[in-house]
Amino acid sequence: MTVHFPFQNTYAALPDNFFARVAPTPVSAPRLIKLNRPLAVQLGLDPDVLETAEGAEILAGKTVPAGADPIAMAYAGHQFGNFVPQLGDGRAILLGEVIDRDGIRRDIQLKGSGPTPFSRRGDGRAALGPVLREYIVSEAMFALHIPTTRSLAAVITGEHVLRETALPGAVLTRVASSHIRVGTFQYFAARRDTEALRRLADHVIARHYPELSGTERPYHALLAGVVARQANLVARWLLVGFIHGVMNTDNSSVSGETIDYGPCAFMDAYNPLQVFSSIDEMGRYAYANQPRIAQWNATRLAECLLPLFGDDRDKAVAEAQEILGAFPEIFSTAYQAGLRRKVGLFTARDGDEALIQDLLDAMARNQADFTLTFRKLGEAAGGDASDARAQFIDPAAFDEWAGRWRERTALEPQSVSERQAAMHAVNPLFIPRNHRVEAVIQAAVNNDDYAPFEELVKVLAKPFDDQAGYAAYAEPPLPDQRVLQTFCGT
Ligand code: AMP
Ligand code: MG
Repeated sequence: MTVHFPFQNTYAALPDNFFARVAPTPVSAPRLIKLNRPLAVQLGLDPDVLETAEGAEILAGKTVPAGADPIAMAYAGHQFGNFVPQLGDGRAILLGEVIDRDGIRRDIQLKGSGPTPFSRRGDGRAALGPVLREYIVSEAMFALHIPTTRSLAAVITGEHVLRETALPGAVLTRVASSHIRVGTFQYFAARRDTEALRRLADHVIARHYPELSGTERPYHALLAGVVARQANLVARWLLVGFIHGVMNTDNSSVSGETIDYGPCAFMDAYNPLQVFSSIDEMGRYAYANQPRIAQWNATRLAECLLPLFGDDRDKAVAEAQEILGAFPEIFSTAYQAGLRRKVGLFTARDGDEALIQDLLDAMARNQADFTLTFRKLGEAAGGDASDARAQFIDPAAFDEWAGRWRERTALEPQSVSERQAAMHAVNPLFIPRNHRVEAVIQAAVNNDDYAPFEELVKVLAKPFDDQAGYAAYAEPPLPDQRVLQTFCGT
């Protein structure tokens, strides 16, 4: 049996200045830690063959599979607001693209597979902890129905990487509808290479926005499309309490998928100012700042596209501003609709927004757990409010709000069970809580024990189901289990 990847390599067929051709660096003793079998099947790959020794060698970058055309992609980016004209895949290598079972083109990329011409001072490697974190959180996001890159496999390399200490090295196989970022456009804009920008924009339209090709103003429509997808994406993040942590423009995908899981985290207690990332000292990427930052990133994309809008610069700027101006409205519509669903409203009425904001304010004042408050509100819709009110330091704050909420829901004809089912379908019980992720990583790194990882991944695959026997995974951390900071792990 040999591993067969039906690769196509459309990105590698773009001009030479889009990437550097580079093969993964072989590692000594690859061992497969996890294969995402359903995803392999979705990609048209044989999971049994990927689980052989040869499969592990490919997933660790030791062997390059037939048909691959490995490249490191060039990109630039604003990191915490500062422009860096050259970043690029410093520790990732795109093997190629496959067409999945739904006909969608997917990149297959190795992350942590050795140095590339874009590595700068880095070693091109990844440590096991961040690889497991990305695996867990990206697959959890998928199960929460949020657009995201996915994780096909995690492999340990048998080698150590040096961070503060020596850590086990690992490679993540990442699957994305593409790895094209706002920063990819910035790379060519910084070089005033309008021809490359046009090629890139055409590639992105064909790949992610095919309905726009051949329309009258495709590049304007492309910007509008990215604005809409990013605004919707960030709304989805907020609705599950997700904090990306490092929303640099190089970590912002033009496909509208969540990408680059570094110091990301889900919050436990609701706090709009929450920051976990150790490097986000100013709170630039705090939970509630994310919509503003996504719009800021889209504005950087708009700047890159201006030369494609036409020769009249002032006109191009005005057109770009108009498109960007739609961001807050698109975000707010998606966010408010999502919040209404979370509190079990089937219709929109005047006053709903204020009602829901009052709940959020009370949650913030009372350090209520974000996930459990909404989940248990589903129980409250059925009459049992005890678990919901228990989330509040002062349960009377919940009672006062719940009275008004019941008056509002009584205006709708749906039955209690209909409402509860609708709420449970959007309010997860299980999220990748920081303390759980941390414990899984410790077991793997310190004891070579992957059973906790397997169990967490399994529970998070069904976040909306009341899974008997796994109730502890829904619990917030005890005070001494709280994780206050997360790290990039690069
Ligand atoms: P990130 O913060 O993970 O989005 O990475 C920012 C930039 O640093 C990207 O260009 C990465 O490819 C690069 N980078 C991160 N870690 C490493 C590493 N260990 N070796 C080489 N480059 C890296
Ligand atoms: Mg990145």
